[in-house]
Amino acid sequence: TPDVRPLVAGNWKMNGLRAALDEIKQIADGVDGSLSEKVETVLCPPSTLLYVATALAEDSPLQIGAQDCHHHNSGAYTGDISAEMIADLFASHVIVGHSERRKDHAESDALVCAKAEAALNVGLQAIICVGETQAERDDGQTLEVLARQIEGSVPEGARAENTIIAYEPVWAIGTGLTPTTGDIAIAHEFLRARLKERLGDEGARMRILYGGSVKPSNAREIVAIAHVDGVLVGGASLKATDFLAIFGAY
Ligand code: PEP
Repeated sequence: TPDVRPLVAGNWKMNGLRAALDEIKQIADGVDGSLSEKVETVLCPPSTLLYVATALAEDSPLQIGAQDCHHHNSGAYTGDISAEMIADLFASHVIVGHSERRKDHAESDALVCAKAEAALNVGLQAIICVGETQAERDDGQTLEVLARQIEGSVPEGARAENTIIAYEPVWAIGTGLTPTTGDIAIAHEFLRARLKERLGDEGARMRILYGGSVKPSNAREIVAIAHVDGVLVGGASLKATDFLAIFGAY
């Protein structure tokens, strides 16, 4: 998309002990310098490492995000973490509606939307994930599913400055499988059209990331696709050397 700064986001999922802080430091050092003018970077470690991670990234353009948030700011929600708490730790982003949350925690579009709204309300940027399952793709439902998820998961207050969409075909996550570049192009063009229809100009400029088995070897051809405004990287973000190699695509 013209005039948008691409975003490379890393999602560590439930990985990372204290010993992994060294990788975060390496990533923070690695994205410093001229690269950061071209590409924006955010790393989402587990919430246990968030506070130390933001401290490690303090002097780096690396931004730190969380992987999920509750839709309320505080209250009797044992084990949950609010968007306000995440923002309080100097984090800047939060992923909502990741397919693992949608599946393992039965998160609906309405809940994902409420979480995104909670994030925006405290000044966090929301990375809202959408994507079809293998069964939905086999049924020819991909675009219908994407339309429903955009309609249901993206709040009215979403703006290009505070919201990022991540297209993550569920079957491509952690599997080593990726859609063809043609299929990614179709999905992203479709998402762009829906976002424009819902949000006008803001939807036209909102970044749409691709996620699902992105690695250094395929990043270049993926980021070259129209309306792919960055990537969301799971497995390949765990090692600083792999994650940093993905920036070679830009
Ligand atoms: C993800 O979980 O957001 C993801 C894209 O994972 P992976 O890169 O490991 O497929």
